[in-house]
Amino acid sequence: MSKRRLPENLSVETLAIRAAELRTDEMSHSEALFLTSSFVYESAAQAAARFAGTEPGNIYSRFSNPTVRSFEERLAALEGGEQCVAFASGMAAITAVFMASLKPGDHILSSRSLFGTTHVLYEKYLRKFGIEVTLVDIDDLDQWRAAMRPETRFLFVETPSNPLAEVADIPALASIAHEGNAKLIVDNCFCTPALQRPLQLGADIVIHSATKYLDGQGRCLGGAVVGQAQDMAEVYGYLRTAGATLSAFNAWVFLKGLETLSLRMHAHSSNALAMAAWLQTQPGVKRVHYAGLTDNPYHSLAARQQSGFGGVLSFEVVDSEGKEDRQAAWRFIDATRLVSITANLGDVKTTITHPGSTTHGRLADEDKRRAGISENLVRLAVGLEGIEDLKADMRRGLAALGFSE
Ligand SMILES: *Cc1c(COP(=O)(O)O)cnc(C)c1O
Repeated sequence: MSKRRLPENLSVETLAIRAAELRTDEMSHSEALFLTSSFVYESAAQAAARFAGTEPGNIYSRFSNPTVRSFEERLAALEGGEQCVAFASGMAAITAVFMASLKPGDHILSSRSLFGTTHVLYEKYLRKFGIEVTLVDIDDLDQWRAAMRPETRFLFVETPSNPLAEVADIPALASIAHEGNAKLIVDNCFCTPALQRPLQLGADIVIHSATKYLDGQGRCLGGAVVGQAQDMAEVYGYLRTAGATLSAFNAWVFLKGLETLSLRMHAHSSNALAMAAWLQTQPGVKRVHYAGLTDNPYHSLAARQQSGFGGVLSFEVVDSEGKEDRQAAWRFIDATRLVSITANLGDVKTTITHPGSTTHGRLADEDKRRAGISENLVRLAVGLEGIEDLKADMRRGLAALGFSE
């Protein structure tokens, strides 16, 4: 770490660049990358002291690596949390929170609008260990209240949600959680701390898939958990034992990614807003889901708790013969030539996908219907290309539906 102490009360923009700077002994300006599995000691006595925890210092990169630590401290500063523990992926981070503190008989209350794999974690794995999960609608606070049980330990929500960009009321969910002695976990993947800081809004734990916007250029997988020291001690203990460790190289890439986080998130937001507003006026587009639009039901809530609306939007297509099916969505997607056909998001490159057959393809038809994933739904994670080039690409999609200018 840099030996100079940072001034107090820095902005998110500054913290993303300056928090937890890590230098080599040569005083490299760019963050130091420690690609090493273990660390050496001056003596046997020092090794013993490190293992006993009586002397601070690195031991083994499964649970202590300076580059990973620097990423953790920077993300903790950005989220305004006491501590952060990094993981090999977002799913490893989510799994760790649950494994670290749940026991058979415990209950999770979760939004139905979820990253598909989190759903699989609930149904296939947590259930096996006697942990029950109840799914409720993200915006129906009465459902959340009614589903609380004495055994409820966590409320879990992603906001804005994927792919419909629904928004959860974080302060309201936090008070429901706290009234029942439970904790609120927010997956902050879509906004990042550049646009939303859930801990300041009352949440207890923040989850990240660093794979998305924290990297920002689609290079590495990673994840993180941020929260109070006591909770993070449990999560860290689990990491040390279970070993889903973030690699130092990936942590270094994320440190570089964080340096441009604020700029990128605001640029993603303005490109997405321009795209959403334009799509809304196109024949062939039935409905656009994006909280940045003033007529979106989540607009005022999102404006209250976010400083930008993010880069992800979705829309329902209809062809010139009135068909609103999977074929229409696929024809639209296949006619594009610029945007990438891939399910990933959080990249400077715009991506397009059909949620019903990719990210949410494993859901049963009934679950898809309840989650609002229709067959004619297309998700766009708007990147940082020129907006006119992006619109031109969407026009290719519209032309394939029978709408040419
Ligand atoms: C991608 C994603 C995850 C999982 O992250 P991985 O890094 O792919 O494991 C979790 N939550 C949300 C909202 C995501 O988009």
